[in-house]
Amino acid sequence: MQEHFDTKAIRDQTPRSVHREHSVPVYLTSSFVFKDAEHARALFAEEVEGQIYSRYSNPNSDELISKLAAMEGCETGVATATGMAAMFASLAGVLSSGDHVVASRAVFGSTHQILTQILSRWGIEHTYADPGDPAAWERAMRPNTRMLFAETPSNPGLAIVDLEHLGRLARANRTLLNVDNCFATPYLQNPAEFGADLVTHSATKFIDGQGRVLGGAVLGSREAIERVRFFCRHTGPAISPFNAWLLSKSLETLSVRMDRHCAHALALARHLQGHSKLNTVNYPFLDTHPQAELAKRQMRQGGGIVTFEIAGGFEAGKRFLDGLQMISLSSNLGDTRTIATHPASTTHSKLSEDERQAVNIPPGLVRLSVGLEALDDIIADVDHALKSV
Ligand SMILES: *Cc1c(COP(=O)(O)O)cnc(C)c1O
Repeated sequence: MQEHFDTKAIRDQTPRSVHREHSVPVYLTSSFVFKDAEHARALFAEEVEGQIYSRYSNPNSDELISKLAAMEGCETGVATATGMAAMFASLAGVLSSGDHVVASRAVFGSTHQILTQILSRWGIEHTYADPGDPAAWERAMRPNTRMLFAETPSNPGLAIVDLEHLGRLARANRTLLNVDNCFATPYLQNPAEFGADLVTHSATKFIDGQGRVLGGAVLGSREAIERVRFFCRHTGPAISPFNAWLLSKSLETLSVRMDRHCAHALALARHLQGHSKLNTVNYPFLDTHPQAELAKRQMRQGGGIVTFEIAGGFEAGKRFLDGLQMISLSSNLGDTRTIATHPASTTHSKLSEDERQAVNIPPGLVRLSVGLEALDDIIADVDHALKSV
């Protein structure tokens, strides 16, 4: 039976115990018991399937991965304790000294730190390419390029990278394509369809969707995941069974939540367009987004994040945050609750003005993770705060 997206998200394949529980229990156990010495030997030799130790795998992390892989159109994957553990495993697990990575200039801050401060010490070099300039990716290729790394839409600039182009470029050059699919979630975009070998997620955001736990995942073909799995098994970024259980439950409502996040975000973006206190309003599916056409080619909807540039600059951005009455001030995103962030004074304060400009973060930029409260209340709070800037 060819199951549809929601069925894959809801109908797990985890066997039930003698109690025949409807909802899968949490397997809070560090290890599993072997039937006898021969069973232990066969498990370690990977001749039979089964659980050994929760650093390797656990029924809850297996369930999370089997659902996520099915939803992404990938064969398998590895679940990790955080999104960054997934990013790191997808890089350090497969790259070797002497390898080169071409990465989008607009990658998540900690991914940038891994590339510039950690992998560089191990002889793994990188070149940044402008996310929206296909020719720049081609120019950046070297004979030792082993991986293309893209994040689309990017956080917080909402830059879109052409996945079809990168898939072709990766195949032609026999390099791996690794895509951070955090903003889109498997519901809105499936990089594997465009040839991505590795699809990485911070499950902390929309996959949990309720601001409760951290988690991450790397998905891909069996071949691509083998080294990532080896890396995780021996370096230990395992997700806790409880978090994996919670995230698997969250997947059951992913499409319902994302439909609402996207509808609210698009409505808010349209409402704000042309506001006298704003220079720009950015949303991937807004006709004024410079890459709207590309976004519509590779995404089903525009996602839950809207950004806008307050004309008054840095101080006005901070005044906007202080003028909010309901919306939370936090650095997280992808929550039921609407969250406002001012990147220039917080998440991206360590970058120079020029570096921020290069990744589309002007001083007055505000990132809104549009939540599931009543749309009228979200709009009213934003409108009210804009009066005080
Ligand atoms: C938050 C985020 C991450 C890191 O995820 P954590 O779960 O916080 O480790 C990576 N990539 C993107 C695009 C993110 O938004």
